[in-house]
Amino acid sequence: MRQHDAMYIDGTWRSAEGSGTIEVVDPAGERVIATVPAGSAQDVDAAVRAARTALPGWAATPPGERAALLTALRDQLAARAEEFAATITAELGSPLGFSTRVQAGVPVKVVGSYAELAASYAFEEKVGNSTVLHEPVGVVGAITPWNYPLHQITNKAAPAFAAGCTVVLKPAEDTPLTAQLFAECVAAAGFPAGVFNLVTGLGTVAGQALAEHEGVDLVSFTGSTAVGRKIGAIAGGAVKRVALELGGKSANVILPGADLAKAVRTNVADVMRNSGQSCNALTRMLVHADQYEEAVALAAAEADTYTPGDPTAEGTRLGPVVSAAQRDRVRGYIEQGIAEGAKVVAGGPEAPLETGYYVKPTVFAEVTPDMTIAQEEIFGPVLSILRYADEDEALRIANGTVYGLAGAVWAGDEAEAVAFARRLDTGQVDINGGRFNLLAPFGGYKQSGIGRELGRHGLAEYLQTKSLQF
Ligand code: NAD
Repeated sequence: MRQHDAMYIDGTWRSAEGSGTIEVVDPAGERVIATVPAGSAQDVDAAVRAARTALPGWAATPPGERAALLTALRDQLAARAEEFAATITAELGSPLGFSTRVQAGVPVKVVGSYAELAASYAFEEKVGNSTVLHEPVGVVGAITPWNYPLHQITNKAAPAFAAGCTVVLKPAEDTPLTAQLFAECVAAAGFPAGVFNLVTGLGTVAGQALAEHEGVDLVSFTGSTAVGRKIGAIAGGAVKRVALELGGKSANVILPGADLAKAVRTNVADVMRNSGQSCNALTRMLVHADQYEEAVALAAAEADTYTPGDPTAEGTRLGPVVSAAQRDRVRGYIEQGIAEGAKVVAGGPEAPLETGYYVKPTVFAEVTPDMTIAQEEIFGPVLSILRYADEDEALRIANGTVYGLAGAVWAGDEAEAVAFARRLDTGQVDINGGRFNLLAPFGGYKQSGIGRELGRHGLAEYLQTKSLQF
C-alpha cells in the first residue's frame, strides 16, 4: 500500500515534529498495512501558518482560475479512481465494487460540480444601493471521519477551494491513506503551496489542536455527535464559524398503499450499504400494524442474502466494519436490543467469520420507540422495525429522536408521501425511493448538525458577506 511517512504542508511532504505513528489496519484481514505519522500541535501550527500565508493570494485568484484548478483536481481523482478504490477497500473494508462506484466515483462528480459552481457562482450581487461581496471565510480546519473517507474530504475541500478558502485537513486515524492520496492529487493538479495542507494524527491531539487554533476561521467537522458537541463549544468560545455534520437515526416510513416489497428491499440495501456505516442510513423502518408481519418476513429474508465476505472478492456486498472497536460497539448494541426485549429475526451478535471485524446483517422486530436500538446511532448493519397504528403515530415515532439527518417516505400516491415528508423534522427525505442528489443540500435538523454540504448551499458555508453602500 502506497504511503507517506510525512505531512503535506506548504506544498511539500515534510517530516512530523514528533516520532509518534498510527497503524493502519485492514479490517478484513486484521493486519497492519501501513503506518502514518501522528501529528502534534506543532505540526498543526505549521500547517495553519502555511494556510494563512497562502490565503490572500488564493482568495484574490479569479474564480475562473480556481475553477480550472478544481477541474484539474477532478481529472486527477478520476485518473486515480482505481487506486482510491483499492486503498479505501484496504483501510475501510468496503466491498471493491462499492468502493469503485461510490467511494471513489462520487467525489469525482462532487469536485466537478464545484468546478462548475466556482465558474458560475455570483460572488457579487446588487441589493438596492448596495453591492454585496461574497468573500471567503478564510482558513478552514477540516476534520473528517472514516466512513466515506474521500467523499468526506471532497465535501469540504472542494467548496472551500471554490470559495477561495485555504484548508488544513485532519482525516480520521483509521483511513489516512486515502487522505494522503488526495494530497498527491491536489499537488499534481497544480494548486499553489499552502492552499491545502494535511496533518494526520489522533483526534484528541491533532484534531483538537486544529479546532482550537486561533488561525483557523471555520472548523468543519463530520463525525460523532459527542465530538461535534465539543468542537461546537470550542468554536463558540472563540467566536469562530463552525459546521457540524453529525449522526442520524433516520426513519423509513412505509405508508399503507406503498409497494411494500420494493420499500423493504430498498431499505435493507440502504442499511447494509457500507456495512451500515452511513450517517444517513435508514436504520428505522416504520410499518403499519396490518402489514407489519409481512414486512418483517420480507426484511429478514432480504438481510439473509447479504453474506459477509472478503471485500476484495467479486460479488461481495457486505464487508467488515472499520475496526475492532466499531465491531464491539455494534455487537454491544445488538446484545442490548435483545436484552431490552426486541426480537432478532436475522443475524445476531455472534461473529460470522473467524477473521476480520465482521458483523452479521441483523434485523430486529418488535422494536419500540423507547429502546436504545430505536434511539441511538449504531453505525453497523442493523435494522430496527417498528409498528405504527396510524399516520400521527408514525410521525411521532419518526420525529421522536434527537436526530434529523435523513428519512424516506413510501406511499401509493406521491402527493401523500410529500405531505407526510413536509411534517418530518429532518434535512433530507427520499420519496418512493428517490436517489441521492449531489447538488441537493445535505445536513441535519436538531442534533444531526449545523450547516449544509454539497451544491450551492455547501459553497455558501465557506463564504461571508461584505456590503458596499453607494
Ligand atoms: P469521531 O467523532 O470520534 O471521529 C471523527 C473525526 O473527529 C476523526 O477525524 C477524529 O480523529 C476526530 N476527533 C476525535 N476526537 C476529537 C477531538 N476531541 N477534537 C477534534 N477532533 C476529534 O467518530 P468515530 O470514533 O470515528 O466514530 C464514532 C461514532 O461516530 C460512529 O460509531 C458513528 O456513530 C459516528 N460517526 C458518524 C459519522 C457521520 O458521518 N456523521 C461518521 C463517522 C462516525
